[in-house]
Amino acid sequence: MVSVTLERISKTFGEVEAVSDVSLEIGKGELFFMLGPSGCGKTTLLRMIAGFYLPTSGRILFGERDITQTPPHKRNTGMVFQNYALWPHMTVRENVAYGLELRKTPVEEQNRRIQEALEMVRMTEYAGRSPNQLSGGQQQRVALARALVINPDVVLLDEPLSNLDAKLRLEMRDEIRRIHDELGTTMIYVTHDQKEALSLADRIAVMGMGEVRQIGDPRTVYTRPSSPFVAHFIGETNFIPGKVAHTGEETVIETAVGPLISSVPPDRPFVPGADVVCCIRPESIDLVSGSAGDEKTNLISASVIQIMYLGEHEQYSVRLKGDTTLKVVHPHPDRRKAEPGQEIWLTFDPSHVVALTPE
Ligand code: ATP
Repeated sequence: MVSVTLERISKTFGEVEAVSDVSLEIGKGELFFMLGPSGCGKTTLLRMIAGFYLPTSGRILFGERDITQTPPHKRNTGMVFQNYALWPHMTVRENVAYGLELRKTPVEEQNRRIQEALEMVRMTEYAGRSPNQLSGGQQQRVALARALVINPDVVLLDEPLSNLDAKLRLEMRDEIRRIHDELGTTMIYVTHDQKEALSLADRIAVMGMGEVRQIGDPRTVYTRPSSPFVAHFIGETNFIPGKVAHTGEETVIETAVGPLISSVPPDRPFVPGADVVCCIRPESIDLVSGSAGDEKTNLISASVIQIMYLGEHEQYSVRLKGDTTLKVVHPHPDRRKAEPGQEIWLTFDPSHVVALTPE
């Protein structure tokens, strides 16, 4: 188990700057996620950590050791790919043994470690099968065992669950967390699936256009996004544009639907008059039918356009004055607040309004 440090890493392919000046510190034993849309450079970054690509500039350290120029097989990393990449002509056991044979590990030790790795991923009884006799989830378990059997300092996972169906993905999420917690190995996990990242990560680096846009634990990244890009990429969100009218303990933002109040301290103080967007999550908005009562703060009237039933909740699309459309999650589908075409009040707590500088 080691820490991993990236110092000002960039990678260009011809004209394309795939990774641009990324600096990161990943702690020993951390389950660290790199999350971002397709083409943001996360796979390129992972491949540089694995040693498959050399950075155009910058340094990579494992602990104190500079491994920027070290070939992949001397980095002691285990890699898990989206497509499992198992050898089809070898049994499960032979696949797992492969890395140990390359390292010329003595046979007795090989046997013990293969046994441990297969137990870890709960595949002992499948040792004699060939990969094409396994389900996708089982193949990915074997790929994990193959990565873990060499006692890697760092495990690198590239979209490991993308090929699995939704139910298996959930099951394997739990498995990866369990294996990480049992082994305590540093793991770096690349995905575009925000649910995977939010549910598993110790910390997440959200990437966009080759750059790290924000690093934080899942709750911070979700509830305190530092830019509209991050807010939009992680989960559903609503944006209401406006101008800062007043700063202080709370920020007052003048919008087309009246003043909105945010009690979330901004990363950098706003100047009155600055353009901002108010970011409000759909589940932070309460629907109030009939009279709005005494509620005065962050109270907006809207008309319901559409209601979508989603099983455990309903999603309302509502239109505000000025034509902004918002999404609202209503957690009780059995207690409808309004029907399409009706007027309704929306309210939300100032602690759930994040004012951000537009990009
Ligand atoms: P995805 O989720 O689709 O795999 P990603 O975030 O992992 O995307 P990368 O695969 O790292 O993104 O690609 C980042 C950028 O670099 C893209 O614009 C891609 O086209 C480009 N790129 C990646 N590999 C190469 C290569 N070998 N040669 C040229 N361009 C490349």
